Amino acid sequence: MKQDADWIRDQVKAHTKWFEESIPTIASENLMSPLAKEMMISDFHDRYAEGMPGKRYYQGNIYVDKVENRCNELAQRVFNVPFVDVRLTSGTVANMAVLFALTEPGDTIATTALANGAHISTAQFGAVGLRGVKTINYPWDEERMTIDVDGARRMLLKERPKVAQFGLSLFLFPVPLKELEPTFHEIGCTVWYDAAHVLGLIAGGQFQDPLHEGANIVSGSTHKTFPGPNHGILLGNKMTEDLEKRLRRSVFPGVTSSHHLHAMAALAVTLAEMEEFGKDYAKQIVKNSQHLGQAMHELGMDVLCPNLGFTKSHTIAVNVSKHGGGDQVAKDLEAANIITNKNMLPGDESSIRPSGIRIGTQEMTRLGMKESEMKHVASLIHRVAVKKESPAKVREDVKELKKRFDKVQYCYHAGTPAYQFHELV
Ligand SMILES: *Cc1c(COP(=O)(O)O)cnc(C)c1O
Repeated sequence: MKQDADWIRDQVKAHTKWFEESIPTIASENLMSPLAKEMMISDFHDRYAEGMPGKRYYQGNIYVDKVENRCNELAQRVFNVPFVDVRLTSGTVANMAVLFALTEPGDTIATTALANGAHISTAQFGAVGLRGVKTINYPWDEERMTIDVDGARRMLLKERPKVAQFGLSLFLFPVPLKELEPTFHEIGCTVWYDAAHVLGLIAGGQFQDPLHEGANIVSGSTHKTFPGPNHGILLGNKMTEDLEKRLRRSVFPGVTSSHHLHAMAALAVTLAEMEEFGKDYAKQIVKNSQHLGQAMHELGMDVLCPNLGFTKSHTIAVNVSKHGGGDQVAKDLEAANIITNKNMLPGDESSIRPSGIRIGTQEMTRLGMKESEMKHVASLIHRVAVKKESPAKVREDVKELKKRFDKVQYCYHAGTPAYQFHELV
């Protein structure tokens, strides 16, 4: 009924206003550019395309094909790889396509344990389990928050999995791909790297470059550090012709029919913007997360890996078990308009009451925040999480800071308000 529709619209407007007045620190979120947003509400949304450009099953794709071809070329340039598929509707869907292409039910693949930062799609109760694939987990170096190289080498040689899978949702440091490359060759496994979190850093050349360090396939989301639409992508290097064919078939008709053409166009625009602004953007993200880690550390908070500079990505992890635990602290921060999430840290057994919070700087960076703002944000978090100041009181200072950072940067038409509700009626 009309009153429901109006009510829903009001909720979305209220949400938009709330985020306009909040500091966004969820490590998997971002803001699209004005051009990308425009693509999202274009007529592309209302259409269907199946198959590859030039070989579709529907008419009406003349412009869609042109845009998708350009999108593929842009991705090839930005990531410097021969194989691209932009028809994945999310990172999880991209992972499902890879699983269908690389594995059969009953196979075993090597992955990272959930408690050490992996994503549910590569866990037993996620897509991997649904495919009937078993997992063995790399040994973990808790001090350095990365895979234990010697242990992983021994494990790979002993178990000889068909696929070595890497990539994390709590992604602080690069994966030791180069170190393990001789072992991959020795056992003849395919190397699959899930770059959902770090795709934007890779595009900007500020993280490891997995496809040139031994990975054959990269799957990813295009809306985390890569500041594009909610969508997915597959990239490949040194793939056999057979693997290429199996991947294309897994994408369509395997896990998608039409692939959200509006999002594909928005992705194309974002790739063009990242080609131009990606390096500056990604550099500032890493700087900001390291500064935020340092500032919180100086305030006495337990930021992980102080001896390693806290992070080499957009993310820092903070153990807040002394301050009420991740669940409580994340809720208190939300009440102060600082949006973050609780996170499991190594050794945690409960994902509902974990000891940590995870903080990402990519969206704050997108809004133009730099080192001095990171100091400010650290003190706001500290006041809520440690000093237990009233969230309502801190919220006023959060709003004050946010007033100066409510526009999108590192894109064409930079300086456009980030929190517009596009009123069409
Ligand atoms: C976020 C994430 C995904 C899933 O991405 P969606 O686009 O949300 O489906 C997959 N893998 C990793 C490592 C992630 O962090």
